[in-house]
Amino acid sequence: MQKIKVREDFYGQLQKIIAGPRLLIDEPMAKHTTFRIGGPADYLVRPASAREVAAVLAAAGRHGVPVVVLGNGSNVLVRDKGIRGLVLKLDAAMGEISHNGATVKAGAGAALGDVARYAGSIGLTGLEFAVGIPGSIGGAVFMNAGAYDGEIGCLVAAVTAVSPDGRLQRFGHADIRFGYRDSIFQHNGCIICEVELALAAGDDTAIGSKMSDYTCRREAKQPIELPSAGSTFKRPPGYFAGTLIEQAGLKGFRIGGAEVSGKHAGFIVNVGGATAADVLALIKEVQRQVFERFGVRLQPEVRIFGEE
Ligand SMILES: Cc1cc2nc3c(=O)[nH]c(=O)nc-3n(C[C@H](O)[C@H](O)[C@H](O)COP(=O)(O)OP(=O)(O)OC[C@H]3O[C@@H](n4cnc5c(N)ncnc54)[C@H](O)[C@@H]3O)c2cc1C
Repeated sequence: MQKIKVREDFYGQLQKIIAGPRLLIDEPMAKHTTFRIGGPADYLVRPASAREVAAVLAAAGRHGVPVVVLGNGSNVLVRDKGIRGLVLKLDAAMGEISHNGATVKAGAGAALGDVARYAGSIGLTGLEFAVGIPGSIGGAVFMNAGAYDGEIGCLVAAVTAVSPDGRLQRFGHADIRFGYRDSIFQHNGCIICEVELALAAGDDTAIGSKMSDYTCRREAKQPIELPSAGSTFKRPPGYFAGTLIEQAGLKGFRIGGAEVSGKHAGFIVNVGGATAADVLALIKEVQRQVFERFGVRLQPEVRIFGEE
């Protein structure tokens, strides 16, 4: 397929919206995913405001360029041929954090761990569970990320997002329809730009020790020393994906550079030089064997992008 980047008129328009190093072409996505996998994106932009998000979306719309939204790339697999079109990456350039009383406001690109530590530093409790989740807060709301009986959705008071037609829209908690690893943003094409969290006053020492406890538990149980995208599969009702995979004898099973982690079977890790094709083949094989053995269909939690 012909690369979209040959459209100089579109590139010229992007240059007018996004300054210098925040606009990249032919950018290897392996540099932007925690799996360290993924071919090049034709364009990658790092907007610094909702206004820039809307302007980029409008330009892409006018030129028929497809858009993929990315936060910290910690829940995605990008295929080896890369992404034909534009990646809108919301990161520290849109990552301001502030508070008013017990309400914490964060730009969608703020690292979730930074927001949790910020809240803890001003004595606000509720977000301790999120300290080791390596995503942006926008990605966390999109996914309704959770751990240790906590879920980001329970804390979200409001979200400001840009709709596909470029309007700035405010969503209250009820509008977002949080479910297990689900939110309205997986269905409405809106780009989350700012998140407001309703936290509660807490005790500094208790907040700090909860965070250390969760960090220790993660370090002991998860293969955080190797590139991955976290849990590969959603939790099937009534089961744990990792336990089923382990019971199917797949711990340590490898295709190319992709391996079912020997430390936690729920994770596929990149043990060195894994391609997206390796990971996809491994996902398929795990699904096949778990279904054959237990009759349970595992659904990927990891989101897959890029040219097939
Ligand atoms: C070691 C490790 C541990 C993990 N542990 C956990 C865990 O305990 N619990 C958990 O829930 N997850 C966990 N994850 C998965 C991941 O960190 C979360 O899903 C996280 O919330 C994803 O955020 P992100 O910014 O990286 O999103 P990305 O991976 O960049 O994107 C994920 C999805 O969100 C969309 N998206 C991202 N930002 C926006 C935005 N601003 N607006 C609209 N759409 C957007 C993308 O299009 C994509 O579909 C883990 C991952 C790793 C690597």
